[in-house]
Amino acid sequence: MLKNGRKSSEKELDTFSQKRPVGRPYRIAASEVWGRSQNLRLQFGQIWNTVAETLLRAQTPEEVLKALELAGQYWRNELGPGRIPTLILTILRDPKFPKQRVQQQINFLADSLAALGNVSPRRSRDICEQERRKEKEESMGHHIIRREYYVECSCGYQGPALNNACRKCGAEIPASLEYLI
Ligand SMILES: [Zn+2]
Repeated sequence: MLKNGRKSSEKELDTFSQKRPVGRPYRIAASEVWGRSQNLRLQFGQIWNTVAETLLRAQTPEEVLKALELAGQYWRNELGPGRIPTLILTILRDPKFPKQRVQQQINFLADSLAALGNVSPRRSRDICEQERRKEKEESMGHHIIRREYYVECSCGYQGPALNNACRKCGAEIPASLEYLI
């Protein structure tokens, strides 16, 4: 019993149209949501010219699917039927949905949809934003914030300088030497 219950709930994570179990806290992996958004951004980017006009006029979930189908049967198979077309409709009707810039529209839709409705579109966007920031910080990596010379001072100190001076006696590195290093 337990085993079966767990198995089916794990499966739901990757299925578009399954309903979420009632009364159970839903755990979603942030990196997975962001990964899915990146895929969706690419995919929507490729079809946006074809589907956008019809999609943005859609009034029903079926019209959403019909619009996406302009880009191929794949989309109907992938997203419908079930709750995803309804979710897309909700996202498109969000007052915050970008009105003009295409890339912003694509990003908004992808980020909102990325959690597949397991959390609210708003929360899904927040997760993506968070992961994107984290990724950016990681890609920037570490950088040098201070450079110190290795010095041999007449006071006997040998080692890294501190603020361009001997760490032991404070003698400054003469400018004439500084340029030689
Ligand atoms: Zn010294």
